[in-house]
Amino acid sequence: MNKTLFEKIITREIPAEIIYEDDLVLAIRDINPQAPVHVLIFPKKVIPRIGEAKADDQQLLGHILLKAAEVAKKLDLKGGYRLVINHGADGGETVPHLHVHLLGGRHMAWPPG
Ligand code: AMP
Repeated sequence: MNKTLFEKIITREIPAEIIYEDDLVLAIRDINPQAPVHVLIFPKKVIPRIGEAKADDQQLLGHILLKAAEVAKKLDLKGGYRLVINHGADGGETVPHLHVHLLGGRHMAWPPG
């Protein structure tokens, strides 16, 4: 099967600004930032999207969220931040490899666009 864009970043076939890495996840700067801070946190295991995660992925999903919060702290987002997961076309998903967007450094509007 073809590698996802994020798999190619994991294997360093495509460059990225890496903010955090461990055995399970990678956090990188988004190439097209929608806020002063825009980081993507994704698992090294390929789960195409949140709706395809399995019960076995529960620990990994928790790890991703905890690492997102840790990265937000490291990037000093004291004023707050937003975590977003896009699922499918209507959700705005463009890369079929589960990822959490960490957005911060400005006030986030609600409802989202
Ligand atoms: P989504 O639309 O939720 O699937 O998010 C995919 C994100 O990946 C978008 O915010 C893109 O800007 C971002 N993106 C696409 N290509 C790259 C890349 N080479 N490096 C970093 N971020 C990327």
